[in-house]
Amino acid sequence: MNALVFETVSHRYGRLKALDRLSLTIGDGEVVCLLGPSGCGKTTALRLAAGLEELQEGRIAIGGRVVAGEGRDLPPEDRDVGLMFQDYALFPHLRVGENVAFGLRRRTASERERLALEALQRVGLADYARAYPHTLSGGQQQRVALARALAPNPRLLLLDEPFSGLDQRLRREVRDRTLHLVKESGAATLMVTHEPEEAMFMADRIVLMRAGRLVQEGTPVECYFNPADGFAAGFFGEVNRLEARVENGEVRTPLAWLPARGIAEGRAVEVLVRPEGIRLLPPGDAAGSGKVDARVIAARLLGRSSLVHLSVEPDGGTPLHLHARVPGRFLPDDGDVFSLDLDPAQVFVFPTDAPISGAEPERGHTGTRASG
Ligand code: ATP
Repeated sequence: MNALVFETVSHRYGRLKALDRLSLTIGDGEVVCLLGPSGCGKTTALRLAAGLEELQEGRIAIGGRVVAGEGRDLPPEDRDVGLMFQDYALFPHLRVGENVAFGLRRRTASERERLALEALQRVGLADYARAYPHTLSGGQQQRVALARALAPNPRLLLLDEPFSGLDQRLRREVRDRTLHLVKESGAATLMVTHEPEEAMFMADRIVLMRAGRLVQEGTPVECYFNPADGFAAGFFGEVNRLEARVENGEVRTPLAWLPARGIAEGRAVEVLVRPEGIRLLPPGDAAGSGKVDARVIAARLLGRSSLVHLSVEPDGGTPLHLHARVPGRFLPDDGDVFSLDLDPAQVFVFPTDAPISGAEPERGHTGTRASG
């Protein structure tokens, strides 16, 4: 059974099209992250699922029941959803326990108290039931908001940027705890975020959006290693971008010749290379192997990895500036020379003369992962 289904949902604010025929499905117990740049329509989709925004076009079903569309638009309290917002939206005049009990309006007083306490126990805050929200830290307030969303045991949790109010260090800890709590609860979850790493950390499946449309959906591994287009490849992490053209069935770049696989002869392409897809070998390895030499411009330790800035000077061509990421501490001197080798799993080729903004991205047959 699906916890949530969007069928060709479109939404306008005046002349602005915030969602354009968005279709998506979340299975029971599945955690799905809605990911995309600011303004791409993520929050609008979440608000439509919650019933906080009136549906204009399409259909929304929760747990197999149409909640919006076909002449129906159920209010949030009738949708079997738990909501959590960026600012937590706790009531300052209500104690923590009362805040959590708020979503349990249709139960008896003693049942509400019991369920609220149970939810607070789950997030480790049972001792704070009588405290007021302002006396709690940001991380504790986040847990109260999560307890309130989980308390009615909803079929579907809707989380809008639930960690954005927390500092970097606390955020890591809180999102780890949230992931386990959400999974234990068994509720399906739709979480909005604009941070790819956060989405990859939390999600069973990611729905990547751009300008109101779905660009790609898949597991974090599928999205990272098989991006649907150049936007998707770049959104999940830094990429080195090279321009080229298909000639005689090949894409010739100063770094390597790549198979064009299905992209038409003469078409302009962009070649995207993840920094971790560039291996640095001793310079001698380049001789006669077709590999290219690169000179180190700078190298910096970033903690778990090192970033090496490289210059490649093709014969008679414009020098290329590349970034290579190497695990651990790897800090060669400026001016050192290496031979470059590309990991085919981290190189992507896409046509660039296809219509891009606002148009359906080209999928599958045109976008291709390089090999060799
Ligand atoms: P962010 O990550 O910045 O919150 P988002 O991807 O969640 O962005 P939405 O908040 O859904 O995007 O907004 C989509 C578009 O609709 C944006 O251009 C936004 O300015 C516009 N928009 C959102 N809400 C309204 C509103 N109530 N009235 C008018 N325009 C709106």
